[in-house]
Amino acid sequence: MKIKAIVLKGQNAKEKDKNILLFSLEEGKIWATLKGVRGEKAKMKYAKEPFCFGDFIVEEGKGSKIVTSVDIIEPFDELAQDIDKYFEGNALLEIVNELKFDSEKVQIFINLIKALKTLAFHKTSKYACLIKFLIDIFSIYGLTLYSPKCTSCGSEFHDHIFINYTVGELCCKSCEPFQSEEIGKGEYNILKLLSTNDYDKLPTIKFSEELGLKLLKVLVTNFEYRFDKQLKLIGILN
Ligand SMILES: [Zn+2]
Repeated sequence: MKIKAIVLKGQNAKEKDKNILLFSLEEGKIWATLKGVRGEKAKMKYAKEPFCFGDFIVEEGKGSKIVTSVDIIEPFDELAQDIDKYFEGNALLEIVNELKFDSEKVQIFINLIKALKTLAFHKTSKYACLIKFLIDIFSIYGLTLYSPKCTSCGSEFHDHIFINYTVGELCCKSCEPFQSEEIGKGEYNILKLLSTNDYDKLPTIKFSEELGLKLLKVLVTNFEYRFDKQLKLIGILN
């Protein structure tokens, strides 16, 4: 079968084989083997690296699926040349790796490619692509986070805005529930801008690394509550 896919991660296998986890538009996540690909002269050696995006031909082998050919669309080499971009890109792959999905896969796939292209080829505020990706993940699963008004009482937000982790929605001070955290005006503003603009607008949205990281931590906590999965985000959270 022919699938449009991106490599999420790989594991060395016997001889010079490598097993790769592909995230495909057609089939979601599937493991497949690249035969003899760890040799210097291996024809498909570029296809074993995370971020490699292409058209893969995958056939049923003995006990596992085998990649028989790859037509690379975009290797995203730029991400390996900038350590900050690399960590942010890796975080995007980690999130997809942790998610379970069915019909959501098409929207997640499209968003992942958009996020990686924006990260690799445009100048954006640090964490902008990662924050936007997480915000959109919540929406894809019907758990939209941004709201212009308190989701509990419907009043306009003034000074104090809280995220209610029990349901993953925003509320005001009077409605502040038990499991909640206050979101500052600055973070709320980034949340609003990144919720209401698409990836092509990201280079025009500027914010500090400090504010971005604060909002990112709130989103990661919300992700853990919503999907019951811990995110490591190596190079960003630790
Ligand atoms: Zn309220």
